[in-house]
Amino acid sequence: MKILVIGSGGREHALAWKLRQSPQAERIFCAPGNAGTSEVGENVAISVNDLEAFVRFAKENRVDLTVVGPDDPLAAGIVDLFTAEKLRAFGPTKSAARIEASKIFAKELMRTQEIPTAEARTFSDSGEALRYCERAKFPVVIKADGLALGKGVAIANDAATAQSTIDEMMNQRRFGDAGRRIIIEEFLQGTECSIHALVDGKNYLLLQSARDHKRALDGDRGPNTGGMGAFSPANNWNSKLQSQFEKEIMRPVLRGFLQERIQFRGLLYPGLIITSEGARVLEFNCRFGDPETQALLPRMKSDLLPLLEATIDGRIDRCAIEWDTRAAVTVVLASAGYPGKYETGEAISGLEEAAKLKDVQIFHAGTKRANGEVATAGGRVLAITALGLTIEDARERAYDAVSSIHFENCHYRRDIALSAVPANIGKSS
Ligand code: AMP
Repeated sequence: MKILVIGSGGREHALAWKLRQSPQAERIFCAPGNAGTSEVGENVAISVNDLEAFVRFAKENRVDLTVVGPDDPLAAGIVDLFTAEKLRAFGPTKSAARIEASKIFAKELMRTQEIPTAEARTFSDSGEALRYCERAKFPVVIKADGLALGKGVAIANDAATAQSTIDEMMNQRRFGDAGRRIIIEEFLQGTECSIHALVDGKNYLLLQSARDHKRALDGDRGPNTGGMGAFSPANNWNSKLQSQFEKEIMRPVLRGFLQERIQFRGLLYPGLIITSEGARVLEFNCRFGDPETQALLPRMKSDLLPLLEATIDGRIDRCAIEWDTRAAVTVVLASAGYPGKYETGEAISGLEEAAKLKDVQIFHAGTKRANGEVATAGGRVLAITALGLTIEDARERAYDAVSSIHFENCHYRRDIALSAVPANIGKSS
């Protein structure tokens, strides 16, 4: 089979790396890809938002399956375009992708299906939102309705912060149209957990649990990022939570889609917060998580390709996934300054030595190859995953590999998965 993976991050490198291992995979294209994906497949210079160019490429090259990594092309309807041209693509249609692309749509669906989530109010008028904040109980969480590269969520501890956030989102349009409408919701206390599910329209199959680290700095300080690391399995997940999750979240969300006459086929991953009263949904994502995918796929023993095909064909109920029982820890190396301004073009050394380490996998994100060298080309540069018998063991191996990689102004967190190491359980982060 000829497979096209759309995107250029660590998630896409992990997907391409895993699909490459399938006996059915004949050729893999990555568009636009990065220096890492060019080692497992062929990079194609198409920008992620050029949907028509993807359709043309898939037709001309007789691509059998396209796997869409990021949310933007899904929200723009790339799967609808492919389907109209009788091309196979993995991912939800435009209307199903609204579960991620519109936080208000997601909230309404959760409300009608009584899915546990934070109490929220929706505003399309900034004056009304500002007045609401005069008598709100703080902290509150303010969310832009649309996609904002993971930056459209702010936690306001007081009225002044809430007011400036509302003004930035709704009046100054910091996130463009994404902030035309906003949600203000209660702040939930707890620890976060990511559960990925392959959803085929009627049924679903859960992947292993994972946790990511969203904040830029150790101890969960600093601004929110796309994700600075992850580990799997999550140490705050258990079978009791899983049955609550299936009964109160997964089945109702599928029922909600059916009632709206929407067929969701693809990867659905609810971001959860585990409170003292159980799991609550913070958001729904309609594609693989980044960096959770880089921690999950090295643990997946089964071939990913037939699972994606079964999801598209509506027969995921006949599938099972075999998992490596070992733990995985993923550490993201970023350019200093990320998620704000950062420099690119720094040469990266030590990749080959690190790749030789046992049970270590190096996934590229913001990298490019120039004059035979690999250099930085983005905010998140690499994701280093290691497997280990315990989380502690996987952590040590991952940080060992990290220590042999160098580039100017490299920044990474030292405390990825630390809270899951038995001696530290109960401590912060
Ligand atoms: P979201 O994009 O909705 O997942 O929000 C991004 C991050 O903001 C989450 O990963 C949480 O860390 C935090 N967050 C979002 N909603 C809430 C909430 N209601 N209570 C506490 N933290 C939240």
